[in-house]
Amino acid sequence: MSHPFLYRRATSSDEAAQLLGEPGAVALGGGTDLLTAIAEEITLPDRLVDLRTIPGLDQIEVLGDETVRVGAAATIATLGSHPSIRERYAVLAQACDVVGTPALRNMGTIGGNLCQRPRCWYFRRAIPCLKNGGPSCPAVHGENRYLAILNGGPCHVVHPSDPAVALVALGARIEIAAVGGTREVPIADFFVLPSECIDRETVLHPGEFVSAILLPPETAGGVQHYHKLMQREAWDFALASVAACRDANGDVSLVLGGVAPRPWRVSSSVEEDVASGAAGAGLDDESIAALAERALYDAVPLSKNGYKVELAAALLRQAIRALV
Ligand SMILES: Cc1cc2nc3c(=O)[nH]c(=O)nc-3n(C[C@H](O)[C@H](O)[C@H](O)COP(=O)(O)OP(=O)(O)OC[C@H]3O[C@@H](n4cnc5c(N)ncnc54)[C@H](O)[C@@H]3O)c2cc1C
Repeated sequence: MSHPFLYRRATSSDEAAQLLGEPGAVALGGGTDLLTAIAEEITLPDRLVDLRTIPGLDQIEVLGDETVRVGAAATIATLGSHPSIRERYAVLAQACDVVGTPALRNMGTIGGNLCQRPRCWYFRRAIPCLKNGGPSCPAVHGENRYLAILNGGPCHVVHPSDPAVALVALGARIEIAAVGGTREVPIADFFVLPSECIDRETVLHPGEFVSAILLPPETAGGVQHYHKLMQREAWDFALASVAACRDANGDVSLVLGGVAPRPWRVSSSVEEDVASGAAGAGLDDESIAALAERALYDAVPLSKNGYKVELAAALLRQAIRALV
């Protein structure tokens, strides 16, 4: 790694936001993605602002109204093993358990996990593509077996995070810090599609960073399930994954990972039909298969990733069975 940069330890949220507002500054969590991105020269920052030194940013606490507040600098390992998370938000604990390797889980933070850059190899190897300023997406006529089947275009990356899929299913909110205060956005609105903005994946503006994730009490407990399919059984990103929840009120959420540029929630009409089936006489195999097929009606596979439609359908069938 030859690119020089300054390193600053932030001592407060305001100081971090101020530093991040300066040109060429980027946030640093565990560095497991950022430092390789610098080595790969897909980003060349002048200054890294370490957020882990902000007092309390790694805390996980249960607030008065039973919301669980997860500081953005909490590591994936701490989050996945926290008793409040394992008891109330099993789907999130399961998603944390299958992130990369133990070393990555001990180093990587949840804030960095949500903001990690996509893994498309054209982008990561600085081969001209839309995300790095090139004229077109080489994956369309090239190597696209790991890319999106839903919501893709003009760039076809998939979102690489497992915890993000669970957090969308749980209806989490993202707390975003800037100089002088914070704002909150539902996680479903936090990620940006390539068709909306090509050079970033989140709604964060310069001078902003993720300070916490808020887990609502309404989605705690019930039936929760995360399942991930990988090319090899460990250390790998999802080919496809699913987070499935049925909360205490019987409401259902079904979210797919590894298939779209952001975690992809299936249509509310499918979720409602699963919820009705779970509340009533159940669903037979034929109805479950029909629901999974309906959920993927909008899938548009590329030349080499049609198999992902099959994988996602199998994951949905399994998840729906688990819920009903
Ligand atoms: C071999 C390998 C396998 C992996 N497998 C998986 C997997 O199976 N599942 C999975 O989910 N992930 C996987 N990952 C990704 C890994 O989980 C991420 O690298 C890690 O979570 C990033 O966290 P970090 O704290 O190290 O972020 P950093 O590397 O420090 O930062 C990542 C990005 O987020 C930004 N950032 C960091 N913190 C914040 C914040 N609080 N607010 C705003 N921006 C911020 C940084 O500027 C940078 O752009 C894998 C990575 C590797 C290398």
